[in-house]
Amino acid sequence: MKTATPSRADIKIGPTRLLINGEWQDAASGKTFETINPATEQVIARVAEADQPDADRAVAAARRAFDGPWRKMSGSERGRLLYKLADLLEAHRQDLAALETLDNGKPYNDALNVDLPLTIACYRYYAGWADKIQGKTIPINGPYFCYTRHEPVGVCAQIIPWNFPLLMQAWKFGPALAAGNTVVLKVAEQTPLTALRVGALAMEAGFPPGVINILTGFGPTAGGALARHMDVDKVAFTGSTEVGHEILKAAAESNLKRVTLELGGKSPNIVFADTDLEPAVEGAFFGLFFNQGQCCCAGSRLFVEDKIHDEFVDQVVARTKKQRVGDPFAPDTTQGPQVDRTQFDKVMAYIAAGRKDGAKLRVGGGRVGQQGYFIEPTVFSDVRDDMQIARDEIFGPVLSVMRFRTIDEVVQRANATRYGLAAAVWTRDITKAHAVANGVRAGTVWVNCYDVFDAAAPFGGFKESGIGRELGEYGLNNYTEVKTVTIRI
Ligand code: ADP
Repeated sequence: MKTATPSRADIKIGPTRLLINGEWQDAASGKTFETINPATEQVIARVAEADQPDADRAVAAARRAFDGPWRKMSGSERGRLLYKLADLLEAHRQDLAALETLDNGKPYNDALNVDLPLTIACYRYYAGWADKIQGKTIPINGPYFCYTRHEPVGVCAQIIPWNFPLLMQAWKFGPALAAGNTVVLKVAEQTPLTALRVGALAMEAGFPPGVINILTGFGPTAGGALARHMDVDKVAFTGSTEVGHEILKAAAESNLKRVTLELGGKSPNIVFADTDLEPAVEGAFFGLFFNQGQCCCAGSRLFVEDKIHDEFVDQVVARTKKQRVGDPFAPDTTQGPQVDRTQFDKVMAYIAAGRKDGAKLRVGGGRVGQQGYFIEPTVFSDVRDDMQIARDEIFGPVLSVMRFRTIDEVVQRANATRYGLAAAVWTRDITKAHAVANGVRAGTVWVNCYDVFDAAAPFGGFKESGIGRELGEYGLNNYTEVKTVTIRI
């Protein structure tokens, strides 16, 4: 759907300070840092740079709120606040989408028509859960009455990445608040602006002070302070596998806070010769290139059955050539810039590695323009499993295509990775679909589709792609502690 796009001058930046205890506060150090528009490389705004003392203040505020008004509020009242927040997000969806595009670089059409609806739906989904969180009565031996209570974990630190700032905030806030926890969110340093706007809307909705706290700042300082904090009960992290290891270590070395991790991936997208070609080509393209290739579940290893390999690759290349890279606010743009200089350089280095290792560059491979972090959508064929571009998470618009012959072979190769986030299979044969769905060690398997997300369907990783699940009832369970109460009768 094409939408009239806002002009830069109309975009309201909103708050740029820390949200602690319901108030906008400067960092204790007084420091700020720049957030950059990746399409122009220009500074959008300076935001507060939180560090340990700010994390301490935010955690203390979250603790007071947890022990105070929030703990006493009924589930239905918490649900009402979440519904109210969702309504406010809906009313401001164009502003929020524009701000997301400005800060992140994603096409405005995607921000408005994908990120915002999923974000709003996530808050509504968890609003509905808030008064339906309940334990069980358990028949145990002896003269006892035994039941369980599903209680909030407490103060939750939540650390999110920059690829879907609004949506990642919703995945974190929704279940945590529905279950009665209080939160301290550390947003990614590349994309701090929309989370702060949501913070302002949450205050307008009426969340009590201290229930929602938002820190802008860097990973090792602000993020690290939360992960190590002795009064944080849980840390939920989404980001790279490398930092995931650090978070787990910090939890182990501090207070054994609960940890959930949603980390990297190198997801196999498997196309059998019997598939309907057109949707499979679209699925191969979209599965990788959506969001500038900056998805943890990107289908970055495309396995194509030998019999259709050459024709299929030609069609994927032809589809890739139709991608329109440019100004993310232009209505016909389908691919914006990478989020920052670091990511841009990293992706370009992977493209160079692919060339050096002897993969066949079929399309793309270069920078687009001289300003902004734009990269041509890139397809390599003849990729070997041992090449760097087949092993590492690139997190950019670079597709690696491999050839396969049998089901057993492709399942074994699909699993030959430290990751296990997602996978997809394209076939008209139900037996093959099940063989892959059962055989692949990944938290999500899509059959004849890709990137189908719903707030009700759990998402998360096997192996080094993470610990625990987000979304759905499974996600909610990671925000409660089970208490067993036994009464002699
Ligand atoms: P990416 O490589 O995609 O930027 P990261 O894993 O580095 O992903 O970052 C994801 C989030 O984790 C960001 O909010 C970032 O600031 C934060 N982060 C990075 N390093 C640490 C760390 N050592 N401790 C806590 N948080 C961190």
